[in-house]
Amino acid sequence: MLSDDLFKRASRLFPGGVNSPVRFYEPYPTYFSRASGSRIFDVEGKEYLDFCMGFGVNFAGYSNTTIAEEIMYLLDNTIPEGVPTENEIELGEIIQKAVPSIEKMRFTNSGTEATMHAIRLARAFTGRKLILKMNAGFHGAHDYVLVSAGSGALNFGTPSSPGIPEEVAKTVLVGDFNNEESIRELFKLHGKDIAAVITEPVLGNLGVIGPEKGFLKFLREITEEYGALLIFDEVITGFRFRYGAYQDIIGVKPDLTTMGKIIGGGMPVGLFGGRADIMNRISPEGNVYQSGTFSANPFTVASGLATLNFLKDKDYEYTISLATWVEEKLKSFSDLGVQVNRVYNMFTIFFNEERVWNYETALKSDRKKFMKFFNFSKKHGIYFSPGQFEASFVGMAHTPEEVEMAVFKMVYTLEFDMN
Ligand code: PLP
Repeated sequence: MLSDDLFKRASRLFPGGVNSPVRFYEPYPTYFSRASGSRIFDVEGKEYLDFCMGFGVNFAGYSNTTIAEEIMYLLDNTIPEGVPTENEIELGEIIQKAVPSIEKMRFTNSGTEATMHAIRLARAFTGRKLILKMNAGFHGAHDYVLVSAGSGALNFGTPSSPGIPEEVAKTVLVGDFNNEESIRELFKLHGKDIAAVITEPVLGNLGVIGPEKGFLKFLREITEEYGALLIFDEVITGFRFRYGAYQDIIGVKPDLTTMGKIIGGGMPVGLFGGRADIMNRISPEGNVYQSGTFSANPFTVASGLATLNFLKDKDYEYTISLATWVEEKLKSFSDLGVQVNRVYNMFTIFFNEERVWNYETALKSDRKKFMKFFNFSKKHGIYFSPGQFEASFVGMAHTPEEVEMAVFKMVYTLEFDMN
């Protein structure tokens, strides 16, 4: 069964043949059937070294037997859905301990749900309507945040989706990451009506762009000055660079945090949490409604617990040094015509002549060239996240030997295939 046949079948069922736009690329996406460690296998049995890792989910590696055995053990006694379980408390306690700003939390089924509920809560808590997000910041696919969004929305040229009522879109202000002036201006104009600033502390959905020195601290200060909340969307960065959140590396404490991806170990997950006085406004303790049949479902909780238990004493430096090596090696060739942005163990190769540090410079990247690079790399057995405005990831299962070979292939692709 070839990918093009499967795509024809899929196209009769799913818009664009896929169940999430980021999975599509021309002429049709490769179909996969199996994964193990750092590797994914397509339907024809071809093997790829994976730097997409389920868009950052599978940090611990695919088909990890230690994790799988613990999941089975944890599930043994907790199959019922829709009832409280001890395991959800254990997972919550691990997260609370690792991320001190999360005094209380709620599990959800996705990062999208997490940011949606966090925003509703921020609006209720402050009694204000406006939300300030970053241009090309991505927080999932609900109406409050699909305004000037990144990731697939930007890759496919639809950063602001039709179908969102104008009244809702108008409640979303858009500033520029790493541009204090643009944020200050919006606060000057609307400060007393802004409920919250929501941002990824490291942009992953415009490609990887780290915060310039002082930018996140500035966001903390200006939100405090105007009585707005600060929400860090750590759906990507949570438990990725350290056993905890990025906020504790940078030393900036948000009021609310959202998480997802790694904390579910491959099962659908999200979480929003933060200051207890804010979280206590959530029903049934408070009057801000939030619910979910599958929230903290036993499978997600078991998978999350097993994954976080596995990662507890793992050496995060290992993944960071491999990613650093990718960056340094590529940078040692001055004529590749790319910018390599890396923050700890995530990176993006931008087809861009200049340093990429904000929205404006990122948009100058050549998306077509990136897709050419993506396809050649795929041919050579390397799978990147498919899109210029995406992040690629190094996880615990990558080995130095395979990363070294991958870098060799990347250089070959950039120097020969692309020309
Ligand atoms: N927030 C960020 C920073 C993300 O990168 C994503 C998805 O990639 C989301 C939220 C949405 O998460 P989900 O796809 O689980 O709904």
